[in-house]
Amino acid sequence: MIHCDAAVVGSGPNGLAASVTLARAGLRVELYERADDIGGGLRSASLFDRDVVHDVCSAVHPMALVSPFFKEFDLASRGVEFLHADISYGHPLGPGTAALAYRDLDQTCDRLGDDGPRWRRLMRPLLERSRGITDFALSGQRSLPSHPVSPALLALGMLRHGTAWHGLRTKEAAALATGVAAHAIGYLPSLTAGGITVLLGHLAHGTGWPLPRGGSVQIAQALADDLVAHGGRIHTGAPVEDLRQLCGARAVLLDVSPKGLLALADWSLPSPYARALAAFRYGPGAAKADFLVSEPVPWRNPELSHAGTVHLGGTRAEILRQETLTARGVPTDKPFVLLCQPTAADPGRARPGKLPVWAYAHVPNGDTRNPLPLIRAAIERYAPGFGDTVIAERGIPAAALESYNPNYVGGDIGSGAMTLRQTLLRPVPRLDPYRTPLPGVYLCSASTPPGPGVHGMSGYLAARSALRREFGIRHMPDLGPGHAAQDRTYLA
Ligand SMILES: Cc1cc2nc3c(=O)[nH]c(=O)nc-3n(C[C@H](O)[C@H](O)[C@H](O)COP(=O)(O)OP(=O)(O)OC[C@H]3O[C@@H](n4cnc5c(N)ncnc54)[C@H](O)[C@@H]3O)c2cc1C
Repeated sequence: MIHCDAAVVGSGPNGLAASVTLARAGLRVELYERADDIGGGLRSASLFDRDVVHDVCSAVHPMALVSPFFKEFDLASRGVEFLHADISYGHPLGPGTAALAYRDLDQTCDRLGDDGPRWRRLMRPLLERSRGITDFALSGQRSLPSHPVSPALLALGMLRHGTAWHGLRTKEAAALATGVAAHAIGYLPSLTAGGITVLLGHLAHGTGWPLPRGGSVQIAQALADDLVAHGGRIHTGAPVEDLRQLCGARAVLLDVSPKGLLALADWSLPSPYARALAAFRYGPGAAKADFLVSEPVPWRNPELSHAGTVHLGGTRAEILRQETLTARGVPTDKPFVLLCQPTAADPGRARPGKLPVWAYAHVPNGDTRNPLPLIRAAIERYAPGFGDTVIAERGIPAAALESYNPNYVGGDIGSGAMTLRQTLLRPVPRLDPYRTPLPGVYLCSASTPPGPGVHGMSGYLAARSALRREFGIRHMPDLGPGHAAQDRTYLA
């Protein structure tokens, strides 16, 4: 039996965002994390050299800059500095050629030949309505938007990029857009992937695809500091194996996947809800590689060294084929690879003769292959000699990612397939997607709206729901720096 107002299980960005919101409302919060470190997908570590930090999971944070939760929490005033590369993302094609998405839209269009004016026509209206688009995309997706124009633009973009009608004629522009669509990790083209192209694609030319100085862990630390400053307590190395362990808490918020909830509370869940959770589908896996290299990646096209993110997948047709095979569960030897060069944005992460390189390949769910040969081959295709620069490396098969973090079922880093149904109705079709049928128990992970990524919105929205229903709090707490917790104690 524990004694607190609210218990939170899991310290990923959503568990931390939920905890901060609850603690700011004056509740006594206990946070339980099974791993020895906080952060979930926000961990960073010195993997090979004590002076060189690698992001273990997430590295690039377009959503943290536009998330309503983080905007109110104000990471900048907590010392988290977001740094930008000149090129948000690059996409090598033939020998020495590459398509480049500069942060500057005009520069991008100038380099896209015949598709320059089309790229501008695609991006300009999205940038003008960026706030409305991001607020809608990062919402709980169960209420009607106040301004219909932004969702309409999003829907139009979903149709355009989620079908064959994208209208881009050059292989460079088509590859650029398809590389962004591949972030959906699933069948391509698809409407969901079209939505991701709109969201992430326009942000690349707006608030950007930044990296926090010093690594993603800085975001987790800022959240944890705020939680502790408002009376919250964090227990690491503390797996919760059964919901009954938390029976003294008035509200329980779970930063776990539907599979995790079934494991915690199978004995008590009403069968229709348990069946719906069991039917929740997981998507393809990601297999991660970390490299410590002696020099920047020797790209055939040297401009790529100014890109924070590089998409390695070839032409649009090649990406569509590989992603669809992967989604069908067919292992391929040329998977789509996403590579991040943190030092392009944050040179301070390099030491003389030592730089971190981060990459993952899209592979079938549960794939057990060591990704190092696949990822090395993908890089060598566009950067011959890369292998000679590798000082140390480690590969994590998709299947092993789940033992590192049970939310990544079979290596699915989205904590649930990004099908249209599961994008709109995750985890199960309910008016309040966070609330479970168990009294006081809420889901708050990326398996709930708005889905994967570091935005904290699932945790924030789940906490708001719990504050309203379990504690009768309708006026939501201020999350900004310098505000004390509200003077309330709800412990019975
Ligand atoms: C390799 C990789 C690269 C990624 N790259 C990016 C990126 O660049 N940008 C981006 O925005 N997103 C990225 N993501 C996705 C992003 O990290 C996730 O969407 C995000 O972290 C989800 O947050 P969460 O709080 O829902 O869950 P998580 O971050 O997965 O955290 C869940 C936490 O709960 C803990 N937990 C689970 N069950 C229990 C239990 N029973 N008891 C106690 N603790 C438990 C876990 O140990 C974990 O710490 C990446 C993910 C991976 C794996």
